[in-house]
Amino acid sequence: MIPYLSDFFNLFFPKICLICSRALHMHEKHICKLCERALPRSYFHMANHNPVEKLFWGRVNIEKASSYLLYTKESKVKNILHSLKYRQQKELGYELGKIYARDLSEVNYFKNLDFIVPVPLHPRKFKERGYNQSEWIAKGLSEVLSVPLKTDLLFKSYHTSTQTRKGRYQRWENVEDVFNIVSGEKFEGCNILLVDDVLTTGATLEACAKKLKSIKDIKINVATLAYASI
Ligand SMILES: [Zn+2]
Repeated sequence: MIPYLSDFFNLFFPKICLICSRALHMHEKHICKLCERALPRSYFHMANHNPVEKLFWGRVNIEKASSYLLYTKESKVKNILHSLKYRQQKELGYELGKIYARDLSEVNYFKNLDFIVPVPLHPRKFKERGYNQSEWIAKGLSEVLSVPLKTDLLFKSYHTSTQTRKGRYQRWENVEDVFNIVSGEKFEGCNILLVDDVLTTGATLEACAKKLKSIKDIKINVATLAYASI
């Protein structure tokens, strides 16, 4: 759009910051500079043996792991994650993915990545929401880090074959989502970055990483937008 036309357009339909809802300046995209500066960053990528890496010790072998923001009940991160998941604000994930990637690039934190793989949603949830929020964070990371995004390697499904033989309680337990891989042999020896929105117990990422580890010589790294200590 011609600049003055875009100004004119913004006068009537101002683009707003996805975090604080203030009208954005022309050079700002999705998030205003004030909110960007105020993000509660963890700086985990600046430290050796950060809390995210330690969380996976003894569970699954991860090369490097980090989370961008610290989730606390008082911080805006709670609102960010809520908007990202339930208010159709997928661009917020994309923008924060890009901002995070710029910080990571400064110290070349994840080296020699071959692919970025978002933690998948179950197809039913994907249909309900219309998008996978982790994929949008991964998209932002992929763009700035210049590493291709891979969304068809890992998928989520239910175990259905054994359900009919189990009692009601067990069936409930069995509704736990499971992860599967497609054409894993194409990824032998690859260095992969797994991406999720928030890390709490690490159970989901552990399940994904364990599944991916069935691929020969694969290396797994982990990045999440937020970290909630429990
Ligand atoms: Zn703002």
